[in-house]
Amino acid sequence: MATQKMLTFVSTPREMPEKRAAADRSEDFHEIYREFAAAKAAEQSGRCSQCGVPYCQSHCPLHNNIPDWLRLTAEGRLEEAYRVSQATNTFPEICGRICPQDRLCEGNCVIEQSGHGTVTIGAIEKYITDTAWDNGWIQPFKPAQERAESVGIIGAGPGGLAAADMLRKQGFQVTIYDRYDRAGGLMTYGIPGFKLEKDVVMRRNQLLADSGVEFVLNCNVGEDISFDAIRGKHDAVLIATGVYKTRDLDLDNADHGGIVRAIDYLTASNKVEFGDDVPDFEDGELNAKGKRVVVIGGGDTAMDCVRTAIRQGAQSVKCLYRRDRANMPGSQREVQNAEEEGVEFVWLSAPGAFAGHVTGVAAEAQERDVDGLPQIASVRIQKMRLGQPDVTGRQSPELIDGADYDEPAELVIKALGFEPEDLPRLWGVEGLEVTRWGTVKASFQTHQTSIPGVFAVGDIVRGASLVVWAIRDGREAAESIATFLTGDARIAAE
Ligand SMILES: Cc1cc2nc3c(=O)[nH]c(=O)nc-3n(C[C@H](O)[C@H](O)[C@H](O)COP(=O)(O)OP(=O)(O)OC[C@H]3O[C@@H](n4cnc5c(N)ncnc54)[C@H](O)[C@@H]3O)c2cc1C
Ligand code: SF4
Repeated sequence: MATQKMLTFVSTPREMPEKRAAADRSEDFHEIYREFAAAKAAEQSGRCSQCGVPYCQSHCPLHNNIPDWLRLTAEGRLEEAYRVSQATNTFPEICGRICPQDRLCEGNCVIEQSGHGTVTIGAIEKYITDTAWDNGWIQPFKPAQERAESVGIIGAGPGGLAAADMLRKQGFQVTIYDRYDRAGGLMTYGIPGFKLEKDVVMRRNQLLADSGVEFVLNCNVGEDISFDAIRGKHDAVLIATGVYKTRDLDLDNADHGGIVRAIDYLTASNKVEFGDDVPDFEDGELNAKGKRVVVIGGGDTAMDCVRTAIRQGAQSVKCLYRRDRANMPGSQREVQNAEEEGVEFVWLSAPGAFAGHVTGVAAEAQERDVDGLPQIASVRIQKMRLGQPDVTGRQSPELIDGADYDEPAELVIKALGFEPEDLPRLWGVEGLEVTRWGTVKASFQTHQTSIPGVFAVGDIVRGASLVVWAIRDGREAAESIATFLTGDARIAAE
């Protein structure tokens, strides 16, 4: 009986949930895909071929039991599907929304390889857990037994939260410190609402708080409390601070008003969506409304900036990337979404210089000799071509002489990637070893750093990565921390 509902990929075409029309979705920060209806989720799940060796599962960083929860969904057994799905993933509905599935599970689906179009795994994963929330299947938990040992977690992003969830379930006392006023890390303040609505993250934070995890927010470790003080308060410490240092442009005259960092721009936009007062947005500095906007970069952060600028009412939005479409690091799906919404991609282009003028507030400030930077007026664009491959095999961009031109712009957003902050220096911990890239050195198996009892996960170890990898690290580190604290590997496995 069950198998009749499966293997329907030959007769049933692949369908995603309905995507809102570009004109409609460009007006707000709500997610762009609507929810599957129950019958559609069951139908799409039934396309799975239930292969004996599921490549989708082996290419999911969490090794989710995808064929099992697809089969249960096809059979209408949604609560069981939810139980299987959450057994391996702390935030299934978040991964379902924002994992780059084309590079992970869906990109390796066998029926995709056979030309029938992948099972829409991410959309179904999201559907299962959204349904679980709607039906009240997700409730605060109470550990079977409270334990005395305590763990201090620095950073409330997906890595820290996933570890907190696992440790608390085992009865440990867990405190998370974060310098922001809300938990969630980049899921809250980096990723825009049109990819991940904020109440999806906030209800997860609330669930952890209701399950006994203590949050200490507005607490910048290294400033408001020392790292040593945190070590003194807890029996083990987990560093999950992410990477926030913006890679900069190597240009002489990059200091102009109106040239801003992507993280500041996206954080301000997310805070505005929460209804917060954001002076840098209100005074126009971090607001694209009515401006000609140029975003520099070709990764997912750049995609989030261009699409945010569209929603803020920019006059025009251009994205400069020094390679071509086929060689950009950002997801092709996001490029398509951005193009539909009115973004223009200027491939094989890089900024050569900025030109500005002194007006308004900047002119007054200059008279008073305070921060009197000229306001950006245009970007000198240099045209490139792709030359010989470098050591990584990627073709290097080469400058085309004499092809420069000026592009008018009132707002330039730098989205060139992130690097780790210098934690040993900022926190005054000499014993904390880092790699030559500045990421914290931690064992791949245990996630323990060079300091016994101090563990590290997520972007601060991997460099800028993905939510799903931070979740995996956090879950694995929780097991190691439990073993470290109790000397008993069975506790970790409970
Ligand atoms: C714009 C943008 C879009 C992205 N889009 C996607 C996407 O679509 N899909 C995807 O999978 N990934 C995406 N990513 C990547 C993903 O968000 C990160 O890989 C992931 O959030 C890393 O998790 P983390 O827990 O290591 O760190 P983070 O999420 O960065 O969380 C770290 C937390 O530590 C806190 N912290 C840092 N230093 C201190 C300190 N000294 N004291 C106290 N607290 C501190 C920070 O405030 C933050 O809350 C995106 C990233 C960006 C920037
Ligand atoms: S966690 Fe990400 S990679 Fe894994 S099944 Fe879900 S969407 Fe795919």
